[in-house]
Amino acid sequence: MLKGTGRPAYSGVAIGRAYVYHKQCSELPASCGDAGKEQQKFDEAKETARRQLQQLFEKTKQEIGEEQAMIIDVQMMMLDDLDYLESVADMIKDGAGAAQAAQDSGEFFSAAFAAMDDEYMKARAVDVKDVSSRIVKILCGDQGGLVMEQPGILVAEDLTPSETVQLPKDKILAFVTRQGSSNSHTAILARIMNIPSLVQTDISLDAQLDGKLMVVDGFDGTYYVEPDEATLAAMQEKQQKAAQSRRQLEAYRGRPSVTKTGRKINLYANIGSPEDVKAVLAGDAEGIGLLRSEFLYLGRDTAPTEEELFEAYRTVVEGMQGRRVVIRTLDIGADKKVDYFGLDAEENPALGYRGIRICLDKDEIFRPQMRAIYRAAAYGRVSVMFPMITSLWEVREIKAFCEKIRRELAAEGIPFGEAELGIMVETPAAALASRELAKEVDFFSVGTNDLTQYTLAIDRQNAKLDRFYDAHHPAVLALLSMIAASARQAGIWCGICGELGADPTLTEEFIKMGYDELSVSPGRVLELRKIICESEVCPQ
Ligand code: PEP
Ligand code: MG
Repeated sequence: MLKGTGRPAYSGVAIGRAYVYHKQCSELPASCGDAGKEQQKFDEAKETARRQLQQLFEKTKQEIGEEQAMIIDVQMMMLDDLDYLESVADMIKDGAGAAQAAQDSGEFFSAAFAAMDDEYMKARAVDVKDVSSRIVKILCGDQGGLVMEQPGILVAEDLTPSETVQLPKDKILAFVTRQGSSNSHTAILARIMNIPSLVQTDISLDAQLDGKLMVVDGFDGTYYVEPDEATLAAMQEKQQKAAQSRRQLEAYRGRPSVTKTGRKINLYANIGSPEDVKAVLAGDAEGIGLLRSEFLYLGRDTAPTEEELFEAYRTVVEGMQGRRVVIRTLDIGADKKVDYFGLDAEENPALGYRGIRICLDKDEIFRPQMRAIYRAAAYGRVSVMFPMITSLWEVREIKAFCEKIRRELAAEGIPFGEAELGIMVETPAAALASRELAKEVDFFSVGTNDLTQYTLAIDRQNAKLDRFYDAHHPAVLALLSMIAASARQAGIWCGICGELGADPTLTEEFIKMGYDELSVSPGRVLELRKIICESEVCPQ
């Protein structure tokens, strides 16, 4: 038995086989010196790419529609493009490795397409690049995401948000990473999935770990590889006790979240994709307080279209059957990156081009989102909120933009509904200007993850700083109190959707401050409802 430790990012006990996740290689494999063998490697990778694309084609056709699936069909045809194949073969004959030849040929033809006058051919540049990078990835040992036949415990060096969204969520029993901070988006996703997770562990990712029995204890931050009988029995008992406490919370299912003093608190859930609605309903949340829409953009090669966004939002809104759904517009940037927007690398990404700053600058990114949101609002109760607000002018510009979108949809005869407009209060500037901002919007939702980061000047992604990242810091709590007071004065509702909202030691404090809503991971709802129902406090 091997015992190790890490930092718990979400509680619970999981028992299962280890699946080790390996990242793509950072350097392309060199040629083995035999052109024939390199050509054979390329041919095999090309066939693997074809099988992957075929599967993707079927999935897209089923889930999104024939028209979107045709893009994949075009990519499959490119696998047989004679010019491309000839270029690869020539480079290999000249001594290049298969991966290098695939990459260089892809770049050459992509540049050639991009330079054409014909708009259709120009647009194919992205497809060529996409197909060749798929082949390169395969040649680097990436078989198209992690394949898990059985449920298991995912062990990795670290996971980016885009890697996390592509994982087979229904198969993962726990996350164990060597790096990662407990405030990162990957840890947040583990909480949404309601599975134990440990970050900053001392686990070694050697080849022998794969398939071994593991136990993860997310309560005290320990893991065991090949546990002995006594440890396994003790952990099974701990797991059963946790299940028993969860069963006791079932008494609160379906009950209104009202304090003994009669104060109603809306207990909502945070989600990242339409798939998470199942967890929201299972968790008995009363609505969705934060749909992190950027997760719809991660792990793909092109931005979702208005139609795709609309379908995703409509699925969520319909799934929630009349309960409120707060959609947050794209908060890309900082740790959540996509290549296809072509954004420059930055010295200080957390202070940089992210969230609403990108949307206010780029009509082509903002417009499809707002059109999709208003269109989805025709199917239920939708609110929209905007991340990373710092100034009043931003809010005014957003409101004017929303008005324009509604007029546009009306002129085009496209059905749409009304949506409450709110802002995330997650910068000290927005908190300090909350009195003025409250007069402009319908609600506030406090992002305590970023509010803590920016108030304390501590990068939430930096694992070394976890000890200093203190969301209970008096400065953060003073801002939280100020924000709620501003909202109450203006007569708008206010909630907390950052991770602090789920902290049971502060629930009563938040009620006293005057918060109306707490939006938390779906698995935390019943626990907080119990606290609320047993509480005798009221807003002060
Ligand atoms: C926050 O900052 O608290 C928040 C909810 O947004 P995110 O964690 O996605 O930045
Ligand atoms: Mg935030």
